[in-house]
This record gives sequence, C-alpha cells and structure tokens, in this order.
Amino acid sequence: MKVPLIDLRAQYLSLKEEILDAIRAVMDSGIYVSGSEVERFEQEIAAFAEATYAISTANGTDSLILALEACGVGPGDEVITSPYTFFATAEAIARVGATPVFADIDDKTYNLSPEQTEAKISPKTKAIIPVHIFGQPADMDAFLDIAQRHHLYIIEDACQALGATYKGRRVGSIGHIGCVSFFPTKNLGGYGDGGLVLTNDENLAKKVRLLANHGSTRKYYHEAIGYNSRLDELQAAILRIKLQKLDEWNKLRKERADFYSDQLSALGVGVPHTTSDSSHVYHMYMIEIKERDELSAYLNSVGVATGHYYPCPLHLQNVFAGLGYKQGDLPVAEAASERTLALPMFPELTAEQQRYIISHIKKFMENKKQAPKRGDHE
Ligand SMILES: *Cc1c(COP(=O)(O)O)cnc(C)c1O
Repeated sequence: MKVPLIDLRAQYLSLKEEILDAIRAVMDSGIYVSGSEVERFEQEIAAFAEATYAISTANGTDSLILALEACGVGPGDEVITSPYTFFATAEAIARVGATPVFADIDDKTYNLSPEQTEAKISPKTKAIIPVHIFGQPADMDAFLDIAQRHHLYIIEDACQALGATYKGRRVGSIGHIGCVSFFPTKNLGGYGDGGLVLTNDENLAKKVRLLANHGSTRKYYHEAIGYNSRLDELQAAILRIKLQKLDEWNKLRKERADFYSDQLSALGVGVPHTTSDSSHVYHMYMIEIKERDELSAYLNSVGVATGHYYPCPLHLQNVFAGLGYKQGDLPVAEAASERTLALPMFPELTAEQQRYIISHIKKFMENKKQAPKRGDHE
C-alpha cells in the first residue's frame, strides 16, 4: 500500500463541482484582483478567527514581513522566536533588517518556551514571534504577560494552526497581530500562494493594508514604500468554499491523531502532548523516537511517506552563521530535530491506511527489541 504524507487531490475531488463553479464565476466577472470575493473572504475569515480586522496578502511570509513592519520593527531591533519552525519565520525578521534571536523550545509541545524567551530579552528586543507549531497553540498567556511587562509586540505565527483554540479563543487574534498562510498544504490551503494578517488593533490594520498595497490608500497617491502583496480573486473564491469546511476538517484530523496516539503510545512511541485548555489542529502529526532515521527508512520502504520537520534548527542554518550560535546552544530544539518524524496526516486519511502504518511501526518496534545492536550485551 502507498500512503502519501498529505493528499491534496482527495480534498479537491470532494469539492470539485463547487470549486469549478466558483472559478468559472470569477473568470466570467472580469475582475481578478481586489474584487468582491476578496472583500467577502476577509469578512468571513475575520469572523471565523474572532478578529476585528483581516487583511489578505500574497503569502504567509509576506504576512510576517508586513506585521513586523507595521509594528515598527526594523534595523537595530531584535525579535525573539523559535529555532524550531519553518525558515520563513526568521527570514521575515531578517528581511525587515532586524536580528532574529532564538530561544529554546518546550520539550513536550515543541513550542517556543516563555521562560527561555524572557531570558533572551535585551534593551533591543521589540517583539516576540511565538509559532503555533504543527497546529498546537503556544502558551499565549505567558507571552502576553511577558509582552506587557517588557512593552513588546506579540506577533503570532499561526500559519500552521488556523482554527486552533487557546483557552476558548482562536489563535491568530490573541496577540497584537497574527499571521496566516494559505499555502496548499496548510489546514486551509488554496491552489496557489496566499496569506492573511489578523489583528484587533485598528492602527496596525491600517498600516498593514497600506504597506500591502504599494503604500497607497488612494490610487496613484502613495504615503509609504510598501509592497505588492495581495490575494487574488480566484484564491479568495476557492478559500471561501474551503473555509466553511475547516472546522470539520480539523475535527477529522484530530480523530485520526487520537487513533494514532492511542495505538502508538502502547508501542512505546512518543506521541504528541496535548493540553486540556487548548485544541491541537494537527497540521502535522509528529512522533518522537530515538531510532527516527531507521523507522523513517523502514516506513518509506513499505510505501509510507514520512517527513522530517525540521532537520536543521534555524540557529544552525548556514545563513545565520554570523549570529554566532553553535551546536549545543539550544539543546531541546536540536534533540527534536533529530528525533521527530511526521506521519501521514490529512482529513481524508482512511482507517485502513492508518492501520497499515501502525502495523508496520509495530513490526519495527518488535524487531528492534529482538535484535539488540552489536556491542549490546544483555
Ligand atoms: C508555511 C509557513 C510560513 C510561510 O507561509 P508561506 O505562505 O509559505 O509564505 C511561515 N511560518 C510557518 C510556521 C509556516 O508553516
């Protein structure tokens, strides 16, 4: 049996007629950028995310850049974030001319640790970017408390966690400003690139909208050097249809994750830690095991795709060598990058596929017990 890490076609086929009708309507309208689909999508997703303002952008990376600029972050400033995230989180910080400062993560949730973050605050710190990694909310109360005491901005990287809740509130609208991506593989994915900024702050919303649109509020009159970072009508029309399904899809992800966790924890595999006060939307389903590379190779050999997120933590990336971090500086993130493995996870994953994957992990664990490595004397 072949099981992909994610199957985007299955989701498309389940909505094919609706999506093709929406695409046809946009094509017939003659309006392809900045039209009514984008306007309605922004209203609908603001309501979904419980944010006062939603501003669509060209992608999640731009959302982070625009959010940082709107908060006034630039050269000479430091922004603290996680080393265990997709590169774009730190890239955006460097792109606006600021310095990324990496603090270690929590060993249970893989999210940025509030304690480690506070220890890295300097007079130059301007903002913190907690990332809701793999779909699990970061400890927002702790970050908001730190932000208040040190007068910092909290910019949520919610690119992997749209729909997740923290103490009953949707992530992305809990901090000062939040960033979302509609890259096709995200929990709410378009059929191209797309992004969003969420905020309850009118001033920040105005700045983001200005910057995303060439620094202009009135056509051909410009107040700032901005960007061309907009969502298009086709993506907005598609995302409006898919947004209606997001809570249902996230529920299906959770059911599949619970099934994995129930079966795999009995085999001695490390499964995702969950908390009672937040929901996890399982953008990725990550297990932790010392023999990660062997298990990964074995699963691939029986047709099961796996993913390594993230093989090189950001403080050890070549491009950040100038920041002076070395191996051993952030041990929790480094250990996670060596031991975690993503298993297939998408709402349409079948019970048959899951049983196949679990049976092979079971086989691997049993063989491991029976065949101690050479040099082991038991
Ligand atoms: C996907 C992602 C981004 C970037 O989003 P794009 O739309 O691909 O630019 C940023 N941060 C995290 C955590 C992501 O997963």
